[in-house]
Amino acid sequence: MFWGYLVYYTTLLHLGLKRNYSYRSRNVQKKLVNSVRDAGKNVPFYRDLYKKAGIDIQKFSGTKDLKKLPLVTKDDIKSAFPDRITREGTNPNSCIHSATTGSTGKSLPIVYSRSTYALYLAANLRIYTMIGYKPWYKTSYIKYSPLEKYNLGPFFRFDHVPSVTSIEKQIGLLRQNKPDFLDGYPSIILEIAQKATPEDLKYIRPRMIMLNSEMSTCDQKDFIARVFNCPVYDEYSTEETWMVASQCKHKNYHLFTDNVFVEFLDKQGNDVGPGEPGELYLTTLRSPVMPFIRYKIGDIGRYNYDNCSCGCQFPIMESFDGRADDSFILPDGKLVSPLKILNTFNMYIQKHLHLLEEFKVIQKKHDHVVIKLVKGSEFSQEAFGEVLDSLYGLLGDSVHINVEYLNYIHNPGSIKRKAIESHLHN
Ligand SMILES: [Zn+2]
Repeated sequence: MFWGYLVYYTTLLHLGLKRNYSYRSRNVQKKLVNSVRDAGKNVPFYRDLYKKAGIDIQKFSGTKDLKKLPLVTKDDIKSAFPDRITREGTNPNSCIHSATTGSTGKSLPIVYSRSTYALYLAANLRIYTMIGYKPWYKTSYIKYSPLEKYNLGPFFRFDHVPSVTSIEKQIGLLRQNKPDFLDGYPSIILEIAQKATPEDLKYIRPRMIMLNSEMSTCDQKDFIARVFNCPVYDEYSTEETWMVASQCKHKNYHLFTDNVFVEFLDKQGNDVGPGEPGELYLTTLRSPVMPFIRYKIGDIGRYNYDNCSCGCQFPIMESFDGRADDSFILPDGKLVSPLKILNTFNMYIQKHLHLLEEFKVIQKKHDHVVIKLVKGSEFSQEAFGEVLDSLYGLLGDSVHINVEYLNYIHNPGSIKRKAIESHLHN
């Protein structure tokens, strides 16, 4: 049954690669209309929401009506879970259960039908195939919990490497698995790249690496690519919707508009222009059991209208700038994206490889930032002074930066490690 779904969807999705999936295309509009009307009819939460707003959802006709629908937050969904946010008549026992990891301190339970789950896996296989994955490759994936396991003899072999175990253990598992394809959190793969010995690298020789779930900078990707001597790609997916965007061989992020409809909005809920940072709002197109409609995911990105020479017809996201709630807010109200702050550090880490062991930058007040720092074996006050100067250049002189030197940085209960954090969004 499951394999039937998977083969069906993989074929379907691959055929779709050359079809027109621009926002205004019939393909996307049809899916959007069906998904929204279906949620408005069969999911009590959306039915009540639209009724309260005075919207006749059966008249919803696509993008032009989208702005009339209220925006939805994680708290809204959480308070409606399970009965009001799942489709009427859903049998929870026949569903696959998951949850967001709660990196923001709030975890959200999620259910998918088996058919949606197979579709999501197929969508993953599609993006892997776009960058050269073959069904007989061995994959190691670093995640906090294992995926449902469906192996087919020598094909689609997926080995789980727990993200919460030590780096040494992870390296040990990777030596054992000898993956052709490595998939996981950039912060962990970066640490593996830093700690792996030449002996380890004789066994760990992936043909390609896919990073996901966290923001990563170009410098980090380049470093990982150099250590493992293979191309490194980045994927943007969420536990709520799975695949949102992923880099193709030309390193452009394609938005998978056959799976999720993405809006880039400003604080007032209006569309931002191409190239401008906007908050991402997602509408699932293939998850009728627990749909997300205009859902605030809490990330920032920019879109553009360019085409990619790889031949894939999915629209392009110019860049992914990280978590909206990790952006620093300057005294004059301007936002600084976490990616920019991370880049400032990484520029110097590239230059002085053992300058810092670990760091965390926390904005406590509009004009007060704390850097927690574990010195590296070649720490020098002079080199670190350059980092500070660049940071002042970015944040402005009205912001005070304090540095705390520590032996280690405690990450209480978090699964994903955040290097950049702002306390102003709480
Ligand atoms: Zn492309």
